Amino acid sequence: MDDIREHYVAWLRDAHAMEEQALTMMRGMLSRLENYPVLCARMEQHVAETERQAESLRKLLEGRDSGASVMKDTLGKATALGQALGGMFADDEVIKGVMASYTFEQMEVAAYKVLISTAAVLEDTTAIPVFEQNLAEEQDMADWLFDHLDQTTRIFLARDEAGLPARR
Ligand code: MG
Ligand code: FE
Repeated sequence: MDDIREHYVAWLRDAHAMEEQALTMMRGMLSRLENYPVLCARMEQHVAETERQAESLRKLLEGRDSGASVMKDTLGKATALGQALGGMFADDEVIKGVMASYTFEQMEVAAYKVLISTAAVLEDTTAIPVFEQNLAEEQDMADWLFDHLDQTTRIFLARDEAGLPARR
């Protein structure tokens, strides 16, 4: 059971780092979305959701991680996938940012699924609804990005055709 608990706390810490990183990447992207108001509004909503997710994970960690310097270890530690996607998020071209966002949301979905399974094994019943809510928000965001990929791409291409600054 000790080994399981160790994995659990490590995955919980990783999830918190993932959310902090999501905030950094989305805030950066938001500053470049002035020509995509629909996408911009949805991303602003998800930034608010993500702030709440990060806070909910921080609270869970407080009660479950015995290490005193938990948050010091966690903050600023990018996940490997996040590092790989960082360049795409930072790219001026909004299409690359949307593809990176979609991929990141899918990783978040998987991370919460793993946490739900592990919490179930450990009978940590109070944590499960937190993970379930976060998972639902990630899935909704992934679905929204996918459903709007056609619209976003067409806006991008139309701006390019019209000679407008297409990279934004
Ligand atoms: Mg999230
Ligand atoms: Fe997310």
